[in-house]
Amino acid sequence: MKHLIILGDGMADWHVPALGGKTLLQYADTPAMDWLARNGRNGLLKTVPDGFHPGSEVANSSILGYDQHLVYEGRGPLEAAAIGVELQPGDLALRCNLVCIEGDLLKNHSCGRLETEEGDQLIRFLNEHLATDRIHFYTGVQYRHLLVIRGGNKHLHCTPPHDIPLQPWRDYQIQAEVPEAEETAALLRDLVLRSQELLPTHPLNKERAREGKDMASSIWPWGGGYRPQMVPLTQRFPEIRRGSVITAVDLIRGIGHYAGLRIINVPGATGLSDTNFEGKAQAAIDALRSGDDFVYLHVEASDEAGHDGSIPLKLQTIQDLDHRLIQPILKGLGVLENEELTTNNAQLTINNSSFFTLHSSLGNADGIAIALLPDHPTPCEHRTHTAEPIPFTIYYPGIEPDAVQTFDEDAARAGAYGLLEGDEFIKLFMQ
Ligand SMILES: [Zn+2]
Repeated sequence: MKHLIILGDGMADWHVPALGGKTLLQYADTPAMDWLARNGRNGLLKTVPDGFHPGSEVANSSILGYDQHLVYEGRGPLEAAAIGVELQPGDLALRCNLVCIEGDLLKNHSCGRLETEEGDQLIRFLNEHLATDRIHFYTGVQYRHLLVIRGGNKHLHCTPPHDIPLQPWRDYQIQAEVPEAEETAALLRDLVLRSQELLPTHPLNKERAREGKDMASSIWPWGGGYRPQMVPLTQRFPEIRRGSVITAVDLIRGIGHYAGLRIINVPGATGLSDTNFEGKAQAAIDALRSGDDFVYLHVEASDEAGHDGSIPLKLQTIQDLDHRLIQPILKGLGVLENEELTTNNAQLTINNSSFFTLHSSLGNADGIAIALLPDHPTPCEHRTHTAEPIPFTIYYPGIEPDAVQTFDEDAARAGAYGLLEGDEFIKLFMQ
């Protein structure tokens, strides 16, 4: 049997008075999600272990069965993998923002809008002046770049720059958490100071200043760690001979890389509500048809809408995931016939003609197992992630359904699987 995980980032939410006390998953029109819940078995999953922050990297890597106490290394190494930098033993990889510092204050964490091409020029400039056989900068995207220190110590206290807008930056310089890390901390503090001397002299920054834009006037390293000690899924689960990850998000790409998955890039996949839902659906279908046994299909849109605090936008992203991604997949993989879906909203009747009507087999008589879940709630009211358990559903041909009829936070409580944690979900799904 092949395996597909459909991950709606941040989809879970709280009960909203303006929606009659319903959650967004309950209020949205989601016939395909409900079909999976009704025909599958359900439960709740604790995706954020105690003691960890509810970040997407923690939750998604937990869903794949990785013990965060053993593998958690921060975002630097994940972003390194996402841009193709292979870390060697002893390499310390840090996210390196280009930030705007004005006087004593950190004006902002992203120096306004910075194009990737501009960031690349500045990163190359920093390498010309600051790189050594131990120190190297790598270009990432826009203001988000990478700094690798060979032989660096990861036990550092760093502050994410988006947490301290308009604060005095000197109060948040990197400190060692253990005496052995003092050399690395001092080296990084020195790099920050030298970047502040160099960057404002670059013609690109002078031009930005003339145009009244924020200068990229300093580096800000944080989120450092080593290459994660992650056993590839292909080793842990022999039924996965080849797998892939489909996502627009660097952190998830990085997790996929260390998990031994192929990274599939879909044109128009933005990580926002305007993402190419249909393209991602088709990419998953194509991957499963062309020999992949396992696909992790991650869609960021709902999380971004939750961070925006926009209930209408988040409802739209949930419905788009259902209508424009899950339905085409169920039909494209031959799981579902057209007439099997019912909708609870007459205004959102399903246009069958838009579906792929391909019913060719996957080349595997056993069919496909599908799991649907968010990684964590991103409640619109809260505008950031929370650590509450999330609902999940597992469907495969021949599964004996439980009594759950809809895919949402409340219904899943009555599911046959109960409350799972650690690697219980992935072991159950891969059985
Ligand atoms: Zn997330």
